[in-house]
Amino acid sequence: MYKHYQDALAICRVHGNPQYFLTFTCNVNWPEIRRYVTRYPVLKAQDRPDIIARVFHMKVASFVNFLRNNRPFGNVTADLYTIEFQKRGLPHCHLLLWVAETNKITDATHVDRYISAEIPDPVIDPELHRIVTDFMIHGPCGTVRPNASCMSFGMCSKNFPKAYQQSSMIDENGYAHYKRWMTGNTVLKGGVALDNRYVVPYNRALLLHFQAHINVEYCGWSMLIKYLFKYISKGSDRIRFNISKGPSSADTESDTTFEIDEIKNYVDGRFICPHESAWRILDFHIHQRNPAVQVLAVHLQEMQGVTFRDNDQLENIVRNPLSRRTTLTEWLYNNCIDESGRHLTYVDFLSEYKWDASSKTWLRRITNRTNQRLGDLSTYTQCVVKRSTCVYCCHTKKVVDPSRTFAQFLERYAQHTVLHVKGLDY
Ligand SMILES: [Zn+2]
Repeated sequence: MYKHYQDALAICRVHGNPQYFLTFTCNVNWPEIRRYVTRYPVLKAQDRPDIIARVFHMKVASFVNFLRNNRPFGNVTADLYTIEFQKRGLPHCHLLLWVAETNKITDATHVDRYISAEIPDPVIDPELHRIVTDFMIHGPCGTVRPNASCMSFGMCSKNFPKAYQQSSMIDENGYAHYKRWMTGNTVLKGGVALDNRYVVPYNRALLLHFQAHINVEYCGWSMLIKYLFKYISKGSDRIRFNISKGPSSADTESDTTFEIDEIKNYVDGRFICPHESAWRILDFHIHQRNPAVQVLAVHLQEMQGVTFRDNDQLENIVRNPLSRRTTLTEWLYNNCIDESGRHLTYVDFLSEYKWDASSKTWLRRITNRTNQRLGDLSTYTQCVVKRSTCVYCCHTKKVVDPSRTFAQFLERYAQHTVLHVKGLDY
């Protein structure tokens, strides 16, 4: 999960903050699911998590394509999504969207072009009115329904009802407050009339196309980007418990020790609902991002990690020259023999070169650069280097000031090209 979080930060480094946070939830009434279920009158959609998983998988692919090709938020530069499974609910997809500089929001009222939070007029826009009333109304909750699932300590945990808002604005914390007029339009849910204060923010084009619950939030001005990334990459809920007898006097006397098996504890404590099981059996992606992120190794000389199988011969591994190669060693080597990449920093090297994992070499790109992979420094090695105090500069082959930590060296090194590194006073 931490790797996905790092990937998101790598995209941020190149494209800035994401602009939109979307939550796309599966709808069991989609014709693709109904078509199957109606053939068997006793069957409910939830009885066939495999059908739901297959249909939702196709819908998510179509959702991402729609965002890129139909451009309801403008030109998309990057996207990243995670599939999540509620305990007894349907699968849903959390997606972060980055848009081109020209499509970014510069004035709070421009949010209205992309996001609405009001009940549409049933006469002017009957189709949208039907979808919003079916999928995008929160509640009832609060004092009229204190036992609603969203209620926590007497309050709605999603902060509904929202306040009426004359025009969209973004507060000092970067949270967007969408336009919600007091129009008098209401929707009857569970015998309670709910107005614009209960509408979950949505995008018109997405709702009309996908006929499902699709919550859209503007997050371009939010400073809580790390929280957002952690939220979408937090993984499934886990719970662990143990029922045991209290130690008997005999145990205490013999000083019995208990073995802790952390892997078994993890597997025992994991909660997997039928939808997640089906999703994993069908081998669908839980995380996806575009552009892809290449992890760049960072290590001390001769301290690179080597991957091998259980039955591999140690001698063969040591003799194999490929096993020593990493993105870092080959970047240094490439810059020795090829001048054309020396103006690029290590993390920017991927803009003009691609890493060929089979031959473990950097190859110059010949295709366009729009879909390039992004570089992300290996976090594992960052943990290692933090403990290191003796630093060796691989390119200049000099031992650098031992009073500096390698992390300090790296911080400086990552921001310079090879030519600059040569001139550094390490
Ligand atoms: Zn609520």
